[in-house]
Amino acid sequence: MASNRAVVNWLRKSRAAPRGQELARVGQPVDHPELRKVVEDLAWLGIKNRFKFVWSDDGSGVEEDAPTVIHVLGTLVKADEAPPEVHAAAERVVALDLGGVVRHELGHSLLFQRPLVARSPGFRRLFGDVGVAYRVGNPVDEVLRRMARGGLRNPRYRRVVSLYAATHPHEKFAEAIRVALAYRGDDRELVAWSHHHDTDQVVLDQLLFAGAFLRAWGG
Ligand SMILES: [Zn+2]
Repeated sequence: MASNRAVVNWLRKSRAAPRGQELARVGQPVDHPELRKVVEDLAWLGIKNRFKFVWSDDGSGVEEDAPTVIHVLGTLVKADEAPPEVHAAAERVVALDLGGVVRHELGHSLLFQRPLVARSPGFRRLFGDVGVAYRVGNPVDEVLRRMARGGLRNPRYRRVVSLYAATHPHEKFAEAIRVALAYRGDDRELVAWSHHHDTDQVVLDQLLFAGAFLRAWGG
């Protein structure tokens, strides 16, 4: 397994300010093999909403009042070059590559489009109250702060999908969607994921909730 330092280095590299080619395509539609796979997975799940994925020079994200536009930081493509062990280690740290970030942002987007879900008792029990103040800094700082508290060796982080998921209920949900969407919401795959990563039961419950949310979307 790659070290924390290796993950942070690749995170920094893939979150730097875009330059050259990356800067020239800001505002244009994203085209990337990982995005094509995500779009296929959405269609497979019967999620027919039309999303616009556009290159950004100022972080990745979704705005609550325009949730079908997914902004994708141009520099993320650098993570394509990270070795497999770094991708594996990042799985429980933060979305590292373009596919992971797009799945994460879709989690925000889908919840913004169905806000009542966040008020249900099941959601609140597993993810908390999304209405609490949002004070999440940049992903590198948020991850480093939790690594300094022992990172994944700290038992409190067995209760979250990733270190970044610990920042806010919205991020906890988006991180659960990142994983659940990668497996098309397949319960058996999500059980295997939670066993492989030796997480607390509540993480599996979060993933199963996210998987059911995705499967229910298309009716
Ligand atoms: Zn997020």
